[in-house]
Amino acid sequence: MRKSEQHDRNGADTRRDLPSVDAVLKSCGDLEATWGRTRVVLVVKSELAHLRTRLGQGLPCDISKNEIVARVLTALTDADRSTFKRIFNLTGTILHTNLGRALLPRRAIDAMNQVASMPTNLEYDLQSGTRGERDDHAEQLICELLGTEAATVVNNNAAALLLVLNTLAQGLEIPVSRGELVEIGGSFRIPDIMEKSGCKLVEVGTTNRTHLKDYLSAVKNSTALILKVHTSNYSIEGFTSAVGEPDLATLAHEHNLPLVVDLGSGNLIDFSCYGLPEEPVITSAIRNGADIVTFSGDKLLGGPQSGIIAGRRDLIDRIRSNPLRRALRSDKLTLAALSEVLKIYRKPETLARELPTLQYLTKEQSLIREQAVFLAPQLAGCLPDGFTVEPQPCLSQIGSGAMPVQNIPSYALAITAITDADLRRLSEAMRRLPCPVIGRLHEGKLLLDLRCLDDDEKFIEQARHLEPLSL
Ligand SMILES: *Cc1c(COP(=O)(O)O)cnc(C)c1O
Repeated sequence: MRKSEQHDRNGADTRRDLPSVDAVLKSCGDLEATWGRTRVVLVVKSELAHLRTRLGQGLPCDISKNEIVARVLTALTDADRSTFKRIFNLTGTILHTNLGRALLPRRAIDAMNQVASMPTNLEYDLQSGTRGERDDHAEQLICELLGTEAATVVNNNAAALLLVLNTLAQGLEIPVSRGELVEIGGSFRIPDIMEKSGCKLVEVGTTNRTHLKDYLSAVKNSTALILKVHTSNYSIEGFTSAVGEPDLATLAHEHNLPLVVDLGSGNLIDFSCYGLPEEPVITSAIRNGADIVTFSGDKLLGGPQSGIIAGRRDLIDRIRSNPLRRALRSDKLTLAALSEVLKIYRKPETLARELPTLQYLTKEQSLIREQAVFLAPQLAGCLPDGFTVEPQPCLSQIGSGAMPVQNIPSYALAITAITDADLRRLSEAMRRLPCPVIGRLHEGKLLLDLRCLDDDEKFIEQARHLEPLSL
């Protein structure tokens, strides 16, 4: 380090002018009460180290003790802020896996609050005073709604499938149609899950066509079960054929094998009565002869992240006694929320009112259009010259692999700019807002699909922060 850098105009060593840690701490009296001494000392040291480095580099560093204390407070507050931000999901994908999927109904949130803050009989039988079973809270409800004998709940649907296959098929073979070897995104692929479950995948049929005789020729003594996977996030069209659940069930049962159906999202009730595209209804898979079904709790069901396994009592008993289940089971918050969501399904008439997912799915396009017409000039007023905002029809997606092909007519604020780079800068600026706004770039426009926007005021308040940003 060059000597001149350590001296100010008067030749004094400026680094020695920085107060000592103790001196700053003395001025931090109030902070310690709130943040604790350990944390304050750490941050004071790091601030002083930062200032010392600046001085060492010959950078100007004229700072009072009070200013240092103010910087310490800012650093303490910044570091303490949650990494979870409230965002506006205007992507047009309602159940967006990266944005947290389903929002919970009020009563589910209340139930989570209660079990989080007070002791509860999670696994305690109040009648006998002995150990209970955590599944008791949701199992009855699942069985009532699905008409199954038994059910258990784990961390997510990937865990559900892993647990089912490991319990029923470890060391054995499972025939699966080549048309159903799906990748769900992230790291979920059917062949990988099967390998990790310790079972052997036997591919049958072809990508576009699989027949009953393909399954028949694959069934051997070493076959554990037949697996059908709902191809949630794509559809094969044209010259296709797949074997339906009833035929697969007959084949499986003739060979004394269970039929397992991974429904992915699944509908607890038929949402087509709300004018929504068709998605497999879980009860029909069971009526069609599935012995075990698995599906997600936070997709169309509209509940917390969880995987539900339902079906034959003898199979569920085996699944429940697998040691892996202990590793994959759901916690009390999830079970409390899931139970409340399931109770709403008992009163289907109230679903569209009580379940946020269904509210978003069924929001009328005409209402969204009105919202777009109302908000377009207000948003335009928040943007610099060169950007235009127009209401524009668009299509929302359900997301999370449900109803992959059919979309739902919606309305967006369509933003255009002079160059694509401007548009990208705007979408970056929107992601930097205190409550980030996430849209999607589509055909040279930034689309903000308003289907999931239910706080117009807050949205515009955010947009006002855009002005001072350099776009
Ligand atoms: C979404 C999905 C899964 C994975 O479910 P998670 O709850 O995300 O773990 C598995 N199978 C199918 C068919 C799916 O659609």
